[in-house]
Amino acid sequence: MSDSWKRRTRAVHGGTKRSQFGEMSEAIYLTQGFSYDSAEQAEARFLEAGHDEFIYARYGNPTVAMFEERIATLEGTEDAFATASGMAAVTASLMSMLKAGDHVVSAKALFGSCLYVLEEVLGRYGVEVTFVDGTDLDQWRAAMRDDTRAVFFESVANPTLELVDIRGVAEIAHEKGALVIVDNVFSTPVFSKAVELGADVIVYSATKHIDGQGRTLGGVILGTREYIRKTAEPFLKHTGAAMSPFTAWVMLKGLETMELRVRAQAEGALKLAQALEGHPQLERVIFPGLAAHPQHDLMLSQMEQGGTVLSFDVKGGQEAAFKVLNALKIVKISNNLGDAKSIVTHPATTTHQRLPDEQKAELGITRGLLRLSVGLEDPDDLIADLKDALDAL
Ligand SMILES: *Cc1c(COP(=O)(O)O)cnc(C)c1O
Repeated sequence: MSDSWKRRTRAVHGGTKRSQFGEMSEAIYLTQGFSYDSAEQAEARFLEAGHDEFIYARYGNPTVAMFEERIATLEGTEDAFATASGMAAVTASLMSMLKAGDHVVSAKALFGSCLYVLEEVLGRYGVEVTFVDGTDLDQWRAAMRDDTRAVFFESVANPTLELVDIRGVAEIAHEKGALVIVDNVFSTPVFSKAVELGADVIVYSATKHIDGQGRTLGGVILGTREYIRKTAEPFLKHTGAAMSPFTAWVMLKGLETMELRVRAQAEGALKLAQALEGHPQLERVIFPGLAAHPQHDLMLSQMEQGGTVLSFDVKGGQEAAFKVLNALKIVKISNNLGDAKSIVTHPATTTHQRLPDEQKAELGITRGLLRLSVGLEDPDDLIADLKDALDAL
């Protein structure tokens, strides 16, 4: 692969390893292990495995390595480690570098499972976490301590679509020598500028836009070679959240079409947000791509487009929101996002059900809030589906 290749070329050819047969489509190396030519070779490989030398699929596998190399070249990081799910990536990105007595600062608006890891798991192992309003740089500054080892946030928070200023938080964190770990799912690898804005470690749930067709569960951690190989890999290869070679193959194929899909979905999301804005049955429409979004300028500077997900608050709370869900014909009620099929979810009773009411209120997760992941259908059909459901109220 040449360094001068542009993104779309790298998305199709990056990281490709061909066997002696010259197969066009990437091979699925569905093998747990690898044989050695001699006992001495086995010994040498356990001491230090070189590039393209494999030991055991929990440590690495050729199909998984192709996926890691391809996504790393798209994100612009030195290296990557693929995991069994997005949550395995989030958990390992933190647990692999922290120990009891360390301090972490985190945004409080997070995906429900991320919140569980930060609120419950880390504390149990003696890591103290301070939660801040991710949109307020003063709160980030005030929460930093000399023993702060990492900051964690979603660049666009699920489901309230608040943006965190990556450059601003990175400057504050780096002054204290803390690592900046960004869950970048809603920004998508297509619109991400996380590396140039100062993120040290970038985490994706590959289940979302990278697969993009709702088939497999996966995740990936991206960062410097030092962090990936010396910090994340030892933790992951011994604790076991490896990505399966079959999943890696699905993800490789997903990367080939990701840019085309995500750009079309983002265009659809903007059209839909514009069509729903000001609808009499809605309190508000939240989409960073709308000029009315309070962080629209920040969005333009750090992700180029508003993404593929929008949220809206239905007047009349949960009862009205449920009526809208049940009246939809094209948009499916489910809780994935980034899929080719449009998906709507009611966060208060599903993804964020676990949270006490006052915490939901603090995060803006009202009873009428719906989160809509825009797929690849014709945007005009989606607008009609939503409008019919709202008009029926
Ligand atoms: C979905 C999601 C995850 C978890 O990913 P899985 O692949 O479901 O484990 C983590 N963070 C964010 C922001 C997500 O949307």
